[in-house]
Amino acid sequence: MNESGARTDEPGREAGEGVRTFVLERRIRESDVITSFVLRPRDGRPPAPHRAGQHLTLFADIPGRGRQKRNYTISTAPNGETYRISVKREPEGTVSTWLHDAAGEGTLLDIAPPSGGFVLAPSDARPLVFVSAGVGLTPMVAMLEGLAAEGRTPRLQFIHCTQNNATHAFRAHVRSLAAALGAETTFFHTRAGEDERAGHDYDSAGHLTPDWLLEHSPVAEAEYYLCGPLGFLRTFVPALARAGVSSERLHYEFFGAVEDLFDEPPQVSAPPVPAAAVAARRSRTGPGFTRAIIGDALLDSAADAVVVSDAAGDIVLWNPGAERIFGFTEDEALGQSLDIIIPEPFRARHWEGYRETVASGESRYGAGDMLAVPGLTRDGRRISLEFTIALIKDEAGKVTGMAALLRDITPRFEEMKALKKKVAALQAPA
Ligand SMILES: Cc1cc2nc3c(=O)[nH]c(=O)nc-3n(C[C@H](O)[C@H](O)[C@H](O)COP(=O)(O)OP(=O)(O)OC[C@H]3O[C@@H](n4cnc5c(N)ncnc54)[C@H](O)[C@@H]3O)c2cc1C
Repeated sequence: MNESGARTDEPGREAGEGVRTFVLERRIRESDVITSFVLRPRDGRPPAPHRAGQHLTLFADIPGRGRQKRNYTISTAPNGETYRISVKREPEGTVSTWLHDAAGEGTLLDIAPPSGGFVLAPSDARPLVFVSAGVGLTPMVAMLEGLAAEGRTPRLQFIHCTQNNATHAFRAHVRSLAAALGAETTFFHTRAGEDERAGHDYDSAGHLTPDWLLEHSPVAEAEYYLCGPLGFLRTFVPALARAGVSSERLHYEFFGAVEDLFDEPPQVSAPPVPAAAVAARRSRTGPGFTRAIIGDALLDSAADAVVVSDAAGDIVLWNPGAERIFGFTEDEALGQSLDIIIPEPFRARHWEGYRETVASGESRYGAGDMLAVPGLTRDGRRISLEFTIALIKDEAGKVTGMAALLRDITPRFEEMKALKKKVAALQAPA
């Protein structure tokens, strides 16, 4: 092990189904949050072949955390010599943070052969539309390189969403590959800085929407390839399907982050209950069971936390369940920002989603979607929470706040982590 705790010279780790040891040859900073790592087989033989868009499985021995297994897309076309992966630093993510902060040239990593079905069809008969968000552009970059290497020139649109210049990875590379392929690029910056210029740094400020995509791409004939966070896929995959894009033409890859901690596949939510059904329910409540009485009983309970915040994110309701789970009394919590229960590394991401929901009037998550996030208690403990949210709107339909129903699932989360560790140890090469 070297100073960072990473392996640099331990021999004999190459056992296992196709698992080979690779040497980290080079790091390349692609943006403030994404770094690429070039990996060369230590035995001098070519790496196992891959198809552009596939991912490898990497095993990292992290001091204090043991052997960790993660998937990373190979962000280059096959070159017969090396793999490149491009990794986003996840706040407090075990492997991504270790790769960013501790892995250096010479670090050894065990890698299982590439796999995955997120690859291009061999024919160029149909136009291609690549749609990515954040680090989800890695398979698209490999596919662009693959098309260029094979001399293929399909009709192609490359649409990518990222926050701003600081987070925008591979921009120059994508532009030059797209120019060589005669492809069109459209970059959305959701939080473009004041110094950024439309037409130069990005093409469109704000978020890509389903309406824009349906209007600007050949919906009736294109093969769509999408990769991005769960909320992104939940927005665009059903929208394209509803617009008539058949499942054979709709390809997507999910990287997962917080949500995939429980290994749940992305789900399409159940349709919302029609307004008529809600009205009918109301009429069934009789004396003693009015909505107000039932609502109060739920709100006064210490079972689950109910936290209601206004459009600015300040707490306006804090029930006994919230007191029990987070440790703040009602007096301490009211009027405070939701930041009091959000661990620092998650705040930026939280507020981005919050503001977006207030502005759009729509949550990216469907009814019944269970979200899993870390939370923070009054005494600084980190807990794991599952929660659902309901939007509160005024008569004009404008979002005035949000009600979150939260449950502390720390014991289950820890148990799941321990079980995963055991399974990983059993699956690890001898
Ligand atoms: C097919 C495939 C391809 C992929 N390709 C790429 C790629 O090209 N580039 C890339 O960057 N990623 C890619 N990923 C994602 C990658 O595999 C990892 O999931 C990612 O790097 C995060 O791993 P981590 O160890 O850093 O985070 P983890 O430690 O696994 O944590 C994941 C998230 O959960 C949060 N978390 C930690 N503790 C808690 C808690 N107690 N309660 C709730 N939340 C918690 C962490 O803060 C973090 O944000 C891919 C995934 C798949 C499945």
